[in-house]
Amino acid sequence: MAKSPDQEHPQKAFGWAARDKSGLFSPFHFSRRENGDEDVTIKILFCGVCHSDVCIAKNEWGFTNYPVVPGHEIVGTVTTVGSNVKKFKVGERVGVGVIVGSCKKCESCQQDLENYCPQTIFTYNSHYTDGAKTYGGYSDMIVVDERYVLHFPDNLPSEGGAPLLCAGITVYSPMKYYGMTEPGKHLGVAGLGGLGHVAVKMGKAFGLKVTVISSSPKKEAEAIERLGADSFLVTSDPTKMKAALGTMDYIIDTVSAVHALFPLLSLLKPNGKLVTVGLPDKPLELPIFPLVLGRKLVGGSNIGGMKETQEMLDFCAKHGITADVEVIRMDYLNTAIERLAKSDVRYRFVIDVASSLSQ
Ligand code: NAP
Ligand code: ZN
Repeated sequence: MAKSPDQEHPQKAFGWAARDKSGLFSPFHFSRRENGDEDVTIKILFCGVCHSDVCIAKNEWGFTNYPVVPGHEIVGTVTTVGSNVKKFKVGERVGVGVIVGSCKKCESCQQDLENYCPQTIFTYNSHYTDGAKTYGGYSDMIVVDERYVLHFPDNLPSEGGAPLLCAGITVYSPMKYYGMTEPGKHLGVAGLGGLGHVAVKMGKAFGLKVTVISSSPKKEAEAIERLGADSFLVTSDPTKMKAALGTMDYIIDTVSAVHALFPLLSLLKPNGKLVTVGLPDKPLELPIFPLVLGRKLVGGSNIGGMKETQEMLDFCAKHGITADVEVIRMDYLNTAIERLAKSDVRYRFVIDVASSLSQ
């Protein structure tokens, strides 16, 4: 008979798990593997709450394996290093993002694109090569192969820096890959949530003109005054949408729900690029006419490789980019998940794991 989660491995661990598609979280005892030669054991300090955590907790994508302990925006302190670990020392502050493993051999892995390896091991709701389940950062500690651990720059605060490990790299990587960083060009950011608000800040750091494209009129003042956007468009305002037709060079689409692409494609200039990183639970309709007639491009992107994630953290440290966060205690998690599902957060919940997780 299979061992129970708390008996499976030698190291005791404790966190909060969702048990079924209600997505309700409750305390959960489980275990982690012994620290191996290439491993780093991390005491978790803070963990961001990504919209993907909600989708997995509620099985919206249909592949949740309960019980699930989400969390892939992890900042913590190294407590143990394996004998072959070269990059990290005990006591150092580090980050762990969306992936904790990959095959290390394929073309993608060899090009530092572990995020596109066919055998990527995700930080939670996934399996290690030995079949053990992965559990994420809504927990007290984690054991991770050093390849998938990041140095956390000294001048980045843990709370505001944690969301960069998913939200940050998810918008940084496509901006670099698709050439969306040319100073003076016009970037549209669709969806002003966790990913979107970081995209605004990065766009400004790259020297772009940034317009937020939002379904929430209430976010206008803060988008401009607090986040530094140059302008703001509400998708439900036909006059403003019409005036902005054909004005944008690039759009990064972070919207989490099913939405129409036609209005977004129409905002692009000829040769414009729309990169979608949001993951709605149903397919979007692709309007061919504006695409063909304007030689426009629609692309996708999935987080980033380890090398680029480190580069992104260093870029954010240099430019003073952090997420705007609401720090919460672990016992507020169920309320936070409900609020996040309604886009009621400015702009990322981050759990103060170390000081609020008690057994
Ligand atoms: P979030 O904080 O909830 O933000 C999503 C935003 O989408 C909301 O703030 C809202 O912005 C907009 N939105 C939500 N419901 C909407 C609706 N019904 N109609 C129109 N707009 C709506 O989520 P997030 O953490 O930024 O994640 C965004 C998406 O990216 C999610 O689907 C997530 O799963 C996915 N994701 C993908 C990757 C990747 O690697 N590709 C990585 C992380 C997350 P407005 O109020 O401004 O309209
Ligand atoms: Zn995420």
